[in-house]
Amino acid sequence: MGRPALMILVISLVTLSALHGMIIHVEAVDYVVTNQAETAPGGIIFNNQIGAGYAQQTMDAATQLIWGLFQQATAADRKDITQVPLLIVENIVLPNGQSVPAATSNNQILVNAGYLNSYMGDVKQEFTGIVYHEMTHVWQWNGAGQAPIGLTEGIADFVRLKANYPANGWAQPGDGTKWDEGYSVTARFLDYCDGLRNGFVAELNKKMRDGYNVNFFMDLLGKSVDQLWSDYKAKYGN
Ligand SMILES: [Zn+2]
Repeated sequence: MGRPALMILVISLVTLSALHGMIIHVEAVDYVVTNQAETAPGGIIFNNQIGAGYAQQTMDAATQLIWGLFQQATAADRKDITQVPLLIVENIVLPNGQSVPAATSNNQILVNAGYLNSYMGDVKQEFTGIVYHEMTHVWQWNGAGQAPIGLTEGIADFVRLKANYPANGWAQPGDGTKWDEGYSVTARFLDYCDGLRNGFVAELNKKMRDGYNVNFFMDLLGKSVDQLWSDYKAKYGN
């Protein structure tokens, strides 16, 4: 009599482990790192001082931090992305002719080898900070393209701040002339807002899934973004 019950238990365990395996498979993200600038000075620096293995680990660590900061515990909360490529390229030149350290589009990250070559300081630490910023662009919502660029860039630097990889020359708390100036200015302001309401940035990002409205600040904090910015500036005496 005990044998059929044992069989059912065994089958149940097999089913559970198969299901468990399936879930792990669905949630896995592949990070594919390719150095397309292997003979350029910055490509050689990447291979010698950073490496593809470290880059993959950092991309995974960034993803885990971002899902936590954005309160995206389940796959349904997140973008449906299973592969994120990162390419080391010789240079990245925007249509306006400006060369930039890194860029992300269509969930693909480009890192500029020329920038790595010219960087003065700990290049591995700088690369790590760049990965946190760019991985945020992979996962964040942008209000279906309606959010101000300064805000999406500010959220990316907010994540970099929370990862504890601030860049040299970053704005200090209270710096800047407007809330959506972008990058570290906006990151510091968002950090202030997050201090007023724990999880503010996560909730703001969630609201930006399908669209954008500046009143999201009012909805979450009970004050307009302009009022919040002047409160913030007053707090730091500038
Ligand atoms: Zn960016």
